[in-house]
Amino acid sequence: MALVSVSGLTRIFDVSKPWLNRVVEQRKKAFLTAVSDVSFEIEERSVYALVGESGSGKSTIGKMLVGLLGPSEGAVEIRGVDLAREQDRAKVDAVRADIQMIFQDPFASLNPRWRVRDIIAEPVAARGGDTTGLSERLLEQVGLSARDAGKFPHEFSGGQRQRICIARALASEPRLIVCDEPTSALDVSVQAQVLNLMSDLKDQLGLTYLFISHDLTVVQHMADRVGVLYLGRLVEEATPEDLFDDPKHPYTQMLLAAAPKLDEFGRDVPPPTGEIPDPINPPSGCAYHPRCPLATDVCKTTRPPMRMLRGAKVACHLAQ
Ligand code: ADP
Ligand code: MG
Repeated sequence: MALVSVSGLTRIFDVSKPWLNRVVEQRKKAFLTAVSDVSFEIEERSVYALVGESGSGKSTIGKMLVGLLGPSEGAVEIRGVDLAREQDRAKVDAVRADIQMIFQDPFASLNPRWRVRDIIAEPVAARGGDTTGLSERLLEQVGLSARDAGKFPHEFSGGQRQRICIARALASEPRLIVCDEPTSALDVSVQAQVLNLMSDLKDQLGLTYLFISHDLTVVQHMADRVGVLYLGRLVEEATPEDLFDDPKHPYTQMLLAAAPKLDEFGRDVPPPTGEIPDPINPPSGCAYHPRCPLATDVCKTTRPPMRMLRGAKVACHLAQ
C-alpha cells in the first residue's frame, strides 16, 4: 500500500463579499476552485514532486495532506487513515505524529525570541518527550554546529535558517515531510546545498517527501514522480526522465520550452506565455484550452480524463 493516497481531492473556497455588500450590489456568492479532482499516490521512501505556476493549487494540496485544511470533496489517506473523516482520535493522532511540513520562508517560521535549542526541541517538548541533547544532535545532522543551539534565528543566514527548520521538522522523527517551496526564497548557490541535504536525509532516515515547487529544474534530480498542476488540476504525471525527454501535455511542453537551459540550475524561470485564467470562472472543458496551440472543439466542451500513455499519465484529448 502507498504511504499517501490522494483521490478525487477538491477544495473550493467561498470568496464572496460580505452579505450586506452582496445585497446592496446584487451580487451572487462567489466560489474559487483551488484544487479540482486531483488523484495521486506516494510510495513510502519516495519523493513525489508537485509543480505548477503560482496559484495552481500546490500549497492547498500540501495543507490538505497534513490536515491543516479539509477537502471539499475527495480524500487524503495516509496509511489508510482519512485524516478528515476518521472518527478514532488515536488513529488520527498517530498518523499526524508521522507528518511534518517545511515552508518557503525560513524566517517567518522561526520564533525570533527563542533560542535555536528551544525552537528545534519544541515539537518533542510539547508532547512531553526527552529533549536532552536533541537539538545539538539534530544541528549536526543538518550540517550546523552543536554550539549554534544557544543562538537566536537572526544570527543565521537564510540557508542556515532553513537548515534549522529542517532540524525542527526532524525532531519528532516523522515518516512524511511536506516541503512547500523549501528553497525558493534562497540564493541560487544555497538552494543546491539545501536540496542535497534534504536528499541525503531522505536516504539516511528513510523519509518520504511531497516536494512542492514552481520550478521543474529544482525537482528533476530528487523526484521519483512528478505531478504537473494547472489551475488546480493534475494534467500530467511521470518520472522526471519521461517528463523532460517526452513531455506529453501541451502545458508541460510549454513549461519546458520556457525553461530552455535545464542544466542551468536555479536560474530565474521565465514565466510561460499567456494568462492564467481566473479560478473563479475557470474555462469549460480542458482548463488549458484557451492557451493551448492544439485545442479543438472537444477541448472546449469536455474535461479530458487522466489516461495512461507510454508509462506516464496525461489528461489531454490530443496527446499521442
Ligand atoms: P500555489 O501554492 O500553487 O501558488 P495556492 O494553493 O496557494 O497555489 O492557491 C491556489 C488558488 O487558491 C489561488 O487562486 C489562491 O488565490 C486560492 N486560495 C488559496 N487559499 C485561499 C483561501 N484561504 N481563500 C481563498 N482563496 C484561496
Ligand atoms: Mg504556494
